[in-house]
Amino acid sequence: MTSATGLPAGMQVIVRDWLNANHVLFLHEQNVLIDSGHLSGLATTRREVSRRLAGRTLHLLANTHCHSDHMGGNAALQREYRCRVLIPEGEAARVRDWDTRALWLDYAGQRAERFAFDATIGCGTTMRWGGLDWQALAAAGHDDGALMFFCREEGILISGDALWERGLGVVLADPPGGLAAARRTLELIATLDVRLVVPGHGTPFNDVRAALSACHARLDALEADPRRLARSTLKTMLSFAVLERGEMTEADARAVVNAAPIYREYNERFLKQPPEQLFDALLLELERAGALTRAQGTIRPQA
Ligand SMILES: [Zn+2]
Repeated sequence: MTSATGLPAGMQVIVRDWLNANHVLFLHEQNVLIDSGHLSGLATTRREVSRRLAGRTLHLLANTHCHSDHMGGNAALQREYRCRVLIPEGEAARVRDWDTRALWLDYAGQRAERFAFDATIGCGTTMRWGGLDWQALAAAGHDDGALMFFCREEGILISGDALWERGLGVVLADPPGGLAAARRTLELIATLDVRLVVPGHGTPFNDVRAALSACHARLDALEADPRRLARSTLKTMLSFAVLERGEMTEADARAVVNAAPIYREYNERFLKQPPEQLFDALLLELERAGALTRAQGTIRPQA
């Protein structure tokens, strides 16, 4: 667990991992937390947040977007601190109705605890966090309702999963338009004077140009081949499912692929493989890429 340096007073970044999104914590008149990690990492989230609050309370919790690795601790933190919860306007309907398809929950074999929000953050709105102005900007692509938060004065961008140092969050093959939206988000970032990016995963970084070109190259490759995009989406979902459980038997992992609708739908639409071969094909590719290992019928994330 590390804290990033080079940040304005009162702003801390708690760098987590690929399963739990990073947290940003503002300690000021209002103590504000951005993103709450995954449900399975909740004990660490609570400990790290409470250690830094050091007896103070949390007034507000806000999300960059509402995927299971960013909102998994919302319900628990809300109970613990009675904090207000703010989510992007574009996520409101799906969270209110707990639309597990739009939230990528059972649709993609993921889980999160249901929570209620107090208000939404609209695109273009400016929030006062940590004594600084943060403007909410549209960050569609990986998630069509996502926002990023930009502080012009400090040149800091809280990018969520719209931009990481070497990539971006998975873009769905269906509905279409995700890649084009992701590209527009990158183009928007390129117009900002960004000194430091605080990504949803990975350590904060300064070289925005390099990150943007890596993302464009990745989008070019995916755009050229819809089957590749579909496979890439499914492989990300499968490795996330294994990561979420720490390890899985091959039989359990196969059951996830058979049960979560995204696998069947993408296979029917894009891959057109015999259904019983889909799991083996995905697993083999993930093993070859070094993302997962398989031994004695157990699958583990590559350490
Ligand atoms: Zn996400």
